[in-house]
Amino acid sequence: MTGKNYFNDRELHAIICNHVTKIYDSKVAVDNVDLKIKYGSIFGLLGPNGAGKTTIIKMLTGLSSPTKGDAFVAGYDITKNSVKVKENIGWISSEVILDDSLNSMENIWIQSKLHNLGKGWKQKAISIMKYFDLDETNETKVGKFSTGMRKKLEITMALLHDPKILFMDEPTIGLDVNTRRLLWNLIKKINKVYGVTILLTTHYIEEADVLCDSLAIINHGKIIATGSTEELKSLVGGDILEIDFFSLFDFSIIKKINGVNAILNEEIFHKEEITQLNNPLKLFIKVNNAETILPRLISTINSQYPNIIKLIRIEKPSLETIFLELTGMSFTDAQEKSQELNYNNIKSS
Ligand code: ATP
Repeated sequence: MTGKNYFNDRELHAIICNHVTKIYDSKVAVDNVDLKIKYGSIFGLLGPNGAGKTTIIKMLTGLSSPTKGDAFVAGYDITKNSVKVKENIGWISSEVILDDSLNSMENIWIQSKLHNLGKGWKQKAISIMKYFDLDETNETKVGKFSTGMRKKLEITMALLHDPKILFMDEPTIGLDVNTRRLLWNLIKKINKVYGVTILLTTHYIEEADVLCDSLAIINHGKIIATGSTEELKSLVGGDILEIDFFSLFDFSIIKKINGVNAILNEEIFHKEEITQLNNPLKLFIKVNNAETILPRLISTINSQYPNIIKLIRIEKPSLETIFLELTGMSFTDAQEKSQELNYNNIKSS
């Protein structure tokens, strides 16, 4: 990209990635990622464990350099101008960043020193704390805070230096349902009231759906789809039937039924068939409309293979079905496979 467009792009977008790639030894963790994230939006990177989400955040926040490609954060080149990038961003990770032996104001004071903030730091802190219902006079050590209060304090600290962009890596991992919802509300508030652009990573489909204006779905280091949740859902264009069968059978009869568009996991199933002959079969079938096709589908299967159907689930277009459509694997299965892989890697290392 050259000339005027190049600068317009950098003015409009809080984050731009061009062919960003990260290779660890021979492992491609992030593969040729292109992204454009508009100022003022909440953008989500949704992917199963090991998809490359944290690696992208680490590169964009200057903690690690790309092997290939370039990226701009708040208009600054992440490798050539990393100090400027750091001045313009805040970061909230799932890891503990608070000192439990100090109270909230003492924690905030340390943060103000890290950012080299002048005398106004305390006033700024108090105004943000008030907004989040945190008591600035509370002398209680942070170690005794509830998770919700800790999260509020972490956000206060991240906003202290007026960042344009806030990075949140798996912000709600391990939180109970209530605290997760509280945090979702806080994230929406920060975005609206402080106008901060937010890039968050998550492996919770519901979180991406509820929170994000736009998102990118990432798998094995590659962006496989990007857009608003509505745009993404329209990609599926149909319902998905998830059917468990008691035993294997020649499922080519299903493909001939009018209204069946595809069997999404056919390829994966064929690969696994040889080793899993005794396992029951699960098929993900893409259809125009589940309710109208289901009676026909059941009677066709039953006429040739009576009582073979074990369980039927109907999935309406959702982020889950997009993932399935694009990868041939359900998000939950991808998550389990990646955890299995990590466990095996740890065992063999
Ligand atoms: P999670 O939610 O589990 O953190 P993720 O989507 O954030 O997953 P990353 O942490 O970015 O994924 O990891 C992407 C891939 O890169 C994984 O296969 C991981 O094992 C690998 N990886 C990450 N950091 C390193 C490193 N420092 N050295 C080697 N491989 C790494």
